[in-house]
Amino acid sequence: MIDLTITEALEKLKSREISATELTHAYLDRIEKYGADLNCYITTTPERALSDATASDARYAAGTALPLDGIPIAMKDLFATRNIRTTAASHMLENFVPQYESTVSQKFIDAGTVLLGKSNLDEFAMGTFSKTSYFGAPVNPWHIEQKLTAGGSSGGTTSAVASGLAIGGTGTDTGGSIRFPSAITGLVGMKPTYGLCSRWGCVAFASSLDTPGPIARTVDDAALLLAAMAGHDSKDSTSADAGFNAHTPILPILGDGKKLRIGIIKEFANVEISPDMKHLFESRISDLKSLGAEFIDISIPNILDALAAYYIIAPAEASSNLARYDGMRYGLRVDGTDLIDTYKKTRAAGFGTEVQRRMIIGTAVLSSESYEVYFMQAARVRRMIADSFNAAFEQCDLILCPASAGTALPLDSDLSPLEYYALDLFTVAMNLAGIPACSVPAGLAQNGLPLGIQVVGRRFDDMRVMQLAKHIEQFAGVDNRPTKIMGK
Ligand code: GLN
Repeated sequence: MIDLTITEALEKLKSREISATELTHAYLDRIEKYGADLNCYITTTPERALSDATASDARYAAGTALPLDGIPIAMKDLFATRNIRTTAASHMLENFVPQYESTVSQKFIDAGTVLLGKSNLDEFAMGTFSKTSYFGAPVNPWHIEQKLTAGGSSGGTTSAVASGLAIGGTGTDTGGSIRFPSAITGLVGMKPTYGLCSRWGCVAFASSLDTPGPIARTVDDAALLLAAMAGHDSKDSTSADAGFNAHTPILPILGDGKKLRIGIIKEFANVEISPDMKHLFESRISDLKSLGAEFIDISIPNILDALAAYYIIAPAEASSNLARYDGMRYGLRVDGTDLIDTYKKTRAAGFGTEVQRRMIIGTAVLSSESYEVYFMQAARVRRMIADSFNAAFEQCDLILCPASAGTALPLDSDLSPLEYYALDLFTVAMNLAGIPACSVPAGLAQNGLPLGIQVVGRRFDDMRVMQLAKHIEQFAGVDNRPTKIMGK
């Protein structure tokens, strides 16, 4: 049962071939068996899952089933869930139990899903390997004995979905945190247009970049999840007055003489990628050409400066967002000799090294001496990148680029902070521009590990992005059934 996609499971649930309770038990058993080794959940919610499943079965029996009724999912532990601990993988929020439900998790309740648990991530979503988690890193189920990273920051969800410890789940993408982990675990990760999914109740990292989105095994599944998550929310002033209609199965955008122009970013041509990535990227391009797609070179002149701009803007916003964790209202508190000393002790004990580093960088770039030379310059680069994408979309419909340079690295890789930051090279520009980007499996490298390609589109062209991603998925034909990946 674990190998079913969401689309397949829904059919079997509707025809009553399986029940939501059976499906949920299959996942809970597997969590029991492999959950500790994979470390993909910070908190599991088996009782809640079973009561959700019972309610789903009742709705199926009554003929009132909801769109995703009985589908067992993992919720990134960044989304506040009422009466369920929400940690952001930080010691600061280790014992925080929200009294409210985030909009995204509420929408999943309204769609009838079953909550299996809160998945692991980098602390406050800052990181690339999920290693900054206070709860230890999740493990990639591919070549499990090698202890590879499942990516970050949404690495708990990718570890869970690839290993069959959830059928799908949520991530958030501020600079690549849905796409990078999905790419290196053989999954589909969709970063929607900024504003398509509400950020309300999602622990803030960098508010102008944070984008909730789905992680699943197929493009169709990701679309079903996105349809449940998307929609305007009056509680988030940046939420767009747009929804996402799943139209699954996602319809072909190519073939039968259909025309499509796809752009390849010139500036990425000189960025070093693994020979496997190069080969798979070229193979998928020729596949798409065989269906009639036309490829052109486009230019995003400042795209290689996106990293520098991102690592100014994101820490700046983080330093402001994380100022609220002061030991006074909620979260950890370490008493000191006076108020200032309490602040210092609380924040020194509550935040890990990477989060502290970001807050120091963020505070520095916002200081009056640095504001103009760092923050405002970064904001200008951001504007230029967004304008260049707009200009490029005058020439082409969609853009293709790699999602990462290579396959998953070992969790114990000894990388410097700057080396980690450099891994985001292919992903951050889309966050700066607020445009949709989907990472889809491109094939397997020589070492047997998956690699991903990104499809990038105009703002609110999320559906077309996923349509092209589906063609790539079909050509790549990566077998990401959990029992195949895990060998059990
Ligand atoms: N790796 C990036 C960072 O550490 C992206 C994180 C994210 O998208 N949440 O900032």
